[in-house]
Amino acid sequence: MTARTFRLVYTNCRCDLRKRGEVALSGDGPGLVTLCLVCGIVGYVGHRSALDVVLDGLRRLEYRGYDSAGVAVLDGDGGLAVERKAGRLTNLEARLDEVGRDAFTGTAGMGHTRWATHGAPIDRNSHPHCDVTGRVAVVHNGIIENFAALRAELEAVGVEMASDTDTETTAHLIARAYDEGDTKGDLEASVRTVVRRLEGAFTLVVTHADHPDVVVAARRSSPLVVGVGEGETFVASDVSAFIEHTREAVELGQDQVVVIDRDGYRVTDFDGADAQAKPFTVNWDLSAAEKGGHEYFMLKEIEEQPEALANTLRGHFRDGRVVLDEQRLSDQDLRDVDKVFVVACGSAYHSGLVAKYAIEHWTRLPVEVELASEFRYRDPVLDRDTLVVAVSQSGETADTLEAVRHARSQKARVLAVCNTNGAQIPRESDAVLYTHAGPEIGVASTKAFLAQIAANYLVGLALAQARGTKYPDEVAQEFHQLEAMADAVQKVLGTIDQVRALGRELADSKAVLFLGRHVGYPVALEGALKLKELAYMHAEGFAAGELKHGPIALIEEGLPVVVIMPSPKGRAVLHSKLVSNISEIQARGARTIVIAEEGDETVRPFADHLIEIPAVPTLLQPLISTVPLQVLAAEIARSRGYDVDKPRNLAKSVTVE
Ligand code: GLU
Repeated sequence: MTARTFRLVYTNCRCDLRKRGEVALSGDGPGLVTLCLVCGIVGYVGHRSALDVVLDGLRRLEYRGYDSAGVAVLDGDGGLAVERKAGRLTNLEARLDEVGRDAFTGTAGMGHTRWATHGAPIDRNSHPHCDVTGRVAVVHNGIIENFAALRAELEAVGVEMASDTDTETTAHLIARAYDEGDTKGDLEASVRTVVRRLEGAFTLVVTHADHPDVVVAARRSSPLVVGVGEGETFVASDVSAFIEHTREAVELGQDQVVVIDRDGYRVTDFDGADAQAKPFTVNWDLSAAEKGGHEYFMLKEIEEQPEALANTLRGHFRDGRVVLDEQRLSDQDLRDVDKVFVVACGSAYHSGLVAKYAIEHWTRLPVEVELASEFRYRDPVLDRDTLVVAVSQSGETADTLEAVRHARSQKARVLAVCNTNGAQIPRESDAVLYTHAGPEIGVASTKAFLAQIAANYLVGLALAQARGTKYPDEVAQEFHQLEAMADAVQKVLGTIDQVRALGRELADSKAVLFLGRHVGYPVALEGALKLKELAYMHAEGFAAGELKHGPIALIEEGLPVVVIMPSPKGRAVLHSKLVSNISEIQARGARTIVIAEEGDETVRPFADHLIEIPAVPTLLQPLISTVPLQVLAAEIARSRGYDVDKPRNLAKSVTVE
């Protein structure tokens, strides 16, 4: 059989939706509008009730976060009414019913659904956040990395913070810029002055009681689109918030500020110079719009993985050191560690298996990776020098929670790796490192899995740094290589179309096997799990070296076998052994699907289908080799007519043992 090569398309555009024919866009369609991780934002200036428009928009955006919801409405007479409530949007609506909606009759305003990154999901951390006078209100999507310094600066001049968020600082800073100096009385200029000082990723939307007819917004890295209607204008995290009212949209560029009023919008850069944003027409229906134009959330979440990685690492390297902000273990605690356990379930467990290779290599500490459901029933050897890393996307996984309780009862120290701020597992742990993958709607984990690998690696680097098993420049180098993986994942996303085509070809298979060695082995396990859970197909992952000890008996004519190849340069010995394994299975009739480094010519003759991925350091390869496997499983499931986002018998968060 001749090898078919799926060559990567190197592109800066995050997804070429038009090319895939899933959506139709006109104008210079958006590269970014569909891809963003956290929180939903809506702003409105027009002729309708801003409260109604904003609440409707938030309902559409609630899938982006539901830690809290809040609104701010300008009443046109110099009043600014704000209400916010932890929990789902219905809690806010109940609160509005309770307090009455009389103060919310204006036609300009904004709203927010939160996915907490800084501060627990409670009322006082809910957005909008206001300055001390209550005249400026701000909603925010993203993470402001330098908020601690800004907070200290404000506290030094007597400002009392009302929340634990990174966001609140911006409300005070904008109010102060508006009240004094060159920017006095100029809201737009005040916003610009402040956003120039911010580090990190943000969309900020700002209202001021003195400006009842405008809403000002700014973006860096986080998403923001403008909707242009008849006598009304919108800003939102994505178009689903306003496509009921208008399909004419504008995608804001990086580092731009937009001012909207009922007649339209004006865009400038952060220095105030006029700037161009990209207009486009939205032809998606509402359901496609929520999914960023995709058929299902999982595909959207697969495409969000570069952002999930970047956000998880954001702010964790400062002054030449890896820092784990949410970690409450001292360097001495880390030096005392003599053994690491990673406890987790499902894909999170696989993230631990991947990390074991790196943590042992970097720290020379023994690392055991344990299924949480087995951990506490087998009397593991734990004491105060054991570090237990408990990995759970939801932070509520019952088995992992029980494992945490058992570990703590044995005096071990527990560090939670979790995607959900304030969840039970981080609350019961000694320390927590949050992945910032954003809410994951698809039941099968994708972006949360990649973010867990990155977070586990951060734990490994922090241990290596504290224990001196790596020099500071080596730690820095590893961190920067990890950071660069967001781009590598972006490149791999260029294979999506080809892998989906392969998925359609494989849809009628009875079973698929996955083989890997070294870090490729847990990737094989993850690939098999994805296929089982999504396509209800028999799938097994094996360490390729085990083939001859049993699994090779499964090989028969036409059986698809996916092989994850190590780099021929990075791990030459493993590479040649795996080439032999592929030749053995091919000789027995298997249909080989090989994921290999670009330019790996040795493997080509043995690959019936070749999926090429970029060359990256060996320990980091799982962050890219997993991606085609996610796409493959989703497409096989779709072709078989299954609901990709909601596989049968499964729940997103498993809260029973
Ligand atoms: N970092 C902000 C917070 O934790 C914004 C989070 C979001 O994007 O919802 O409140």
